[in-house]
Amino acid sequence: MTLDLPPGTRPRVVVVGAGHGGLECVLALKAAAVDVLLVDRNNYHKFPPRL
Ligand SMILES: Cc1cc2nc3c(=O)[nH]c(=O)nc-3n(C[C@H](O)[C@H](O)[C@H](O)COP(=O)(O)OP(=O)(O)OC[C@H]3O[C@@H](n4cnc5c(N)ncnc54)[C@H](O)[C@@H]3O)c2cc1C
Repeated sequence: MTLDLPPGTRPRVVVVGAGHGGLECVLALKAAAVDVLLVDRNNYHKFPPRL
């Protein structure tokens, strides 16, 4: 059980790509007892259907 572990000692999840799938993944992990690192080659989010 890792629920009470402080930040920095919890399991780390690295999500590569802050597109549609990456953002959904990060949101799904919001309440999980893990540290999440989201990386993308760009510093913006682009969802082509919204353009
Ligand atoms: C013109 C257009 C219209 C569309 N219309 C619809 C629609 O009406 N309805 C619908 O459901 N879908 C539509 N789609 C499809 C939808 O956009 C994709 O299915 C969805 O965005 C795919 O999500 P994804 O997370 O796989 O990829 P993306 O959303 O493309 O995200 C990938 C991310 O990974 C990042 N990345 C890539 N390589 C690297 C790397 N080497 N290092 C770090 N980061 C990296 C990119 O910068 C990007 O942010 C459309 C697509 C296009 C192009």
